[in-house]
Amino acid sequence: MSTPTRITHLIGHRDYYGTADRTSEVYNPATGQVTGALDLASASVVDEVVKHASAAAKEWGATSLAKRTPVLFKFRQLLDENKERIAALITAEHGKVTSDALGEVTRGLEVAEFACGIPQLLKGGYSENVSTGVDAYSILQPLGVVAVISPFNFPAMVPLWFVPIAVACGNAVVIKPSEKDPSATLEVAKLWQEAGLPDGVMNVVHGDKEAVDALLDHRDVKAVSFVGSTPIAKYVYERGVAAGKRVQALGGAKNHMLVLPDADLDLAADAAVNAGFGSAGERCMAISVVVAVDSIADDLIEQIKTRMAGLKTGDGSTGCDMGPVVTAQAKKRISGYIEAGQQAGATLVVDGRETEFHGPDEGFFVGPTLFDNVATDMSIYTDEIFGPVLSVVRVGSYDEGLDLINASEYGNGTAIFTNDGGAARRFQNEVEVGMVGINVPIPVPMAYYSFGGWKSSLFGDSHAHGMEGVHFFTRTKAVTSRWLDPSHGGLHLGFPQNE
Ligand code: NAD
Repeated sequence: MSTPTRITHLIGHRDYYGTADRTSEVYNPATGQVTGALDLASASVVDEVVKHASAAAKEWGATSLAKRTPVLFKFRQLLDENKERIAALITAEHGKVTSDALGEVTRGLEVAEFACGIPQLLKGGYSENVSTGVDAYSILQPLGVVAVISPFNFPAMVPLWFVPIAVACGNAVVIKPSEKDPSATLEVAKLWQEAGLPDGVMNVVHGDKEAVDALLDHRDVKAVSFVGSTPIAKYVYERGVAAGKRVQALGGAKNHMLVLPDADLDLAADAAVNAGFGSAGERCMAISVVVAVDSIADDLIEQIKTRMAGLKTGDGSTGCDMGPVVTAQAKKRISGYIEAGQQAGATLVVDGRETEFHGPDEGFFVGPTLFDNVATDMSIYTDEIFGPVLSVVRVGSYDEGLDLINASEYGNGTAIFTNDGGAARRFQNEVEVGMVGINVPIPVPMAYYSFGGWKSSLFGDSHAHGMEGVHFFTRTKAVTSRWLDPSHGGLHLGFPQNE
């Protein structure tokens, strides 16, 4: 067994050379081996990073758009050139299969491309002669230092939802990646230096609750973009807002896919399997509940089952369809849910605990699992399992399916499978969910739209990227100006009125 690699903080252009009071272990989930020793930041390390970022933010915020934009283009090029290397790092620490890891980098790359258009995106408004001789306009200015706190399941893509836009808007960034798979985030952050970003504008601080709390409380951190589970998202939102910050906190999910009787069942079965078991179900946009109208439920389940039989689960770097889950604890938790579903009386159609795996025995593998006849009071329905467990709930009609989805605590993503345009149109209007797919199971918006859920899937009022991202990372200033009009002046104590 080789010695674990030390993984440490990035303070601007240099690695952190101090000693960490605390470290944590990073695993390769496919082998169960410890591959990294991660420095965990104390509040004083966080303070040092934020101070460095704060100094850099002033200069970067004053750098012209003409000089900022080439850095973004260069970063986009470097990310593209390094995407295979980054994907391999994701697979080695997260476990997802290589093609899926590459897909996540590519979706992150889209945000970098969107940010390259920043001169267009930062245009304010201008109104001439709003009052006689008076013009009014708005300008969008950077906030200063912003923090990005990310989850384990998309170590490249989730930070990329925020970072290119924050940088393009003239802010300095401190990223706090997941302690489970920090290396891909760190390597992407290092590309900014090569792209020409000044020292201190991009920083990475590793850690757990202590580092997160220090960022939330730090007076020089002006905004926080968080993505993770719902309880932590709520906590981060409340603590950050109490400290006077702007916070967007994206939380957990339980995504439903409604299949109507007129749907193309081949397409729906493919979609349920891809969206249920891709990335071992560790996606916030994974489908975890198939809501099947009774008349087609048996047929659909049969088709899903047939497809599941062909899936190969194992080491994600060896051409399998599905990799391991992220930790031994996650494997135990997911297996516990399978047991609980069985105990509660759901029909266990395929038991992932019995899958044959293509990887070492020590790997954190759980195979694709399918339940039928799931009831809404069972824990496999109510809880976000975040593993390869797909539940089928049977309903009598569209209305019953819609009510079920709208009663969910979560509102991240959903999908409808139908060939009836009218039903689809009703669904997009009536469903209380932030991202909707019509015959598309994982409706992740393009970078120029915004990503975010409703209800307990998002705290705050800004979604990620698109124009909402630009607005989140800037403050708007409205200016009213009058220039050298000989008619100006004179005493006038009344409230300004238009003339
Ligand atoms: P998590 O909530 O455990 O961790 C997220 C981040 O919070 C990590 O950086 C972690 O270090 C930090 N953290 C953990 N515990 C903390 C605490 N007590 N106090 C302060 N900070 C803490 O989430 P995870 O397991 O890494 O990621 C999976 C979750 O993220 C799932 O619930 C998934 O649905 C969600 N997710 C949501 C979206 C979305 O867009 N809504 C996207 C990806 C993932």
